[in-house]
Amino acid sequence: MERKVRVRFAPSPTGPLHIGGVRTALYNYLFAKKHNGDFLLRIEDTDQARYVEGAEKYIIDALKWCGITPTEGVGAGGDLGPYHQSERKEQGTYKKYVDQLLESGHAYYAFDTPEELDAMRERLKAEGGHSQQYDSASRNSMKNSLTLSAEEVQQKIEAGDKYVVRIKMPRNEEIKFKDIIRGYVVVDSSNLDDKVLFKSDGMPTYHLANVVDDYLMKITHVIRGEEWLPSGPLHVLLYRFLGWENEMPEFAHLPLILKPNGNGKLSKRDGDAGGFPVFPIEWKSEEEVFSGYRESGYFSEAHINMLAFLGWNPGTEQELFSLEELVQEFSLERVGKSGAKFDPDKTKWFNEQYLRAKSNEELAELIKPFANNANDELLAGVCGLMKERVSFTNEILEKGKYLFEAPTAYDAKTVKKKWKDDSSQIVADLITVFSNTEFNNEALETAFKEYIEEKELGFGKPMIAIRLAITGEGGGPSLFEIMELIGKEESINRLKVGIENIKKEPVA
Ligand code: GLU
Repeated sequence: MERKVRVRFAPSPTGPLHIGGVRTALYNYLFAKKHNGDFLLRIEDTDQARYVEGAEKYIIDALKWCGITPTEGVGAGGDLGPYHQSERKEQGTYKKYVDQLLESGHAYYAFDTPEELDAMRERLKAEGGHSQQYDSASRNSMKNSLTLSAEEVQQKIEAGDKYVVRIKMPRNEEIKFKDIIRGYVVVDSSNLDDKVLFKSDGMPTYHLANVVDDYLMKITHVIRGEEWLPSGPLHVLLYRFLGWENEMPEFAHLPLILKPNGNGKLSKRDGDAGGFPVFPIEWKSEEEVFSGYRESGYFSEAHINMLAFLGWNPGTEQELFSLEELVQEFSLERVGKSGAKFDPDKTKWFNEQYLRAKSNEELAELIKPFANNANDELLAGVCGLMKERVSFTNEILEKGKYLFEAPTAYDAKTVKKKWKDDSSQIVADLITVFSNTEFNNEALETAFKEYIEEKELGFGKPMIAIRLAITGEGGGPSLFEIMELIGKEESINRLKVGIENIKKEPVA
């Protein structure tokens, strides 16, 4: 029987969630939704030394902002919890399986102190061996339950000696598994070390806890970052040793997200240095502050759309996808193997597309709280005029300031180059023309054209003169539309003030 698709996002609360993590969550979500499956959120908080206050809340808030909603797990509930590994540890979940591995001879106790482990590495180095790991070759000269007698082991445990439980890696065995993105991965078990699975304080390591939980939570597909690929063979062996091979999930290891220049992994420091965020929402702790996409004015839909394309493509020219459309189109087969270069310009481009696709009224609602009681109609008009010229909504008010108030200065460069001796006269003439014109875009344009034709003037000089007077700038959206929006009285007034003030600007 086909198993119901169940995937999980399993972050460790060791700090804010980098966009690489958000992309992993997104691909898991898309895959689950596409196959009518479940998407779990599990918090892997066994490593207390790396636990960071506030990180879990950040993860939850960030996923929420992105619209990547877990159907089960932390914040969503479910029958196979608890979904925090710390709580599962308390329940003895991992201990049970460590005991099983110890009994079947696939794991063993090791009592070596840090000094003894260092000495082992030194010795192996001096001998010139190719590796200095705790493995099938070196374990026989160490202090563990394979070299000590059963009584000695028992005594040590009873005396409260510190120990770890290590996996007993088989020698010369081929471990093979299929990765949906990379194809078959084959390794010789002799190259793998006897990883620690469990510690005497009752804490499982990532490897054991991760595999046990994936099994108990009936996970069918493990979709995670490439950095976990080297752990794949160990995990496959754990499934085998625990007798769960038939329930083993399929694996898909996602490509890295690279720096814009392609040199290495995109790191948390690259963002603020390059002027773009690498975190979904802002992170603030006593030690560090990182900017977020949300606070930088990105729409969450644009952010998600951009992230989807960092490693995946639909195989067509279409670039704009809503979350629902991504669900329809997504497949792991179309995720690439090679690293995906982060492109800050493209990221902005996505935001611009989403901004332009919004109606003027929707945008007006967004900027209203910052618009000093401007009326809705004016705001919608402003949005209509400005939306093709900005990347973020907050720029609408900044760049469109002259739509609310008359300019207090005139762009010096434009004045110097384009304000001619007869410009004042032209503006004065146009005041008369416009005073007798109906104040809408088409009528103003017609009247303007008739005037320049009659005076045998070119288009440029008169146009720039009135633009300067109306907006203070040398460029911008359609001038007649601006005039229609700000109205007759205001426009005529600005033209009059312009005649007075523009010529007074220092002309070098
Ligand atoms: N806790 C691991 C992490 O933080 C999970 C890796 C996995 O998905 O197996 O990335």
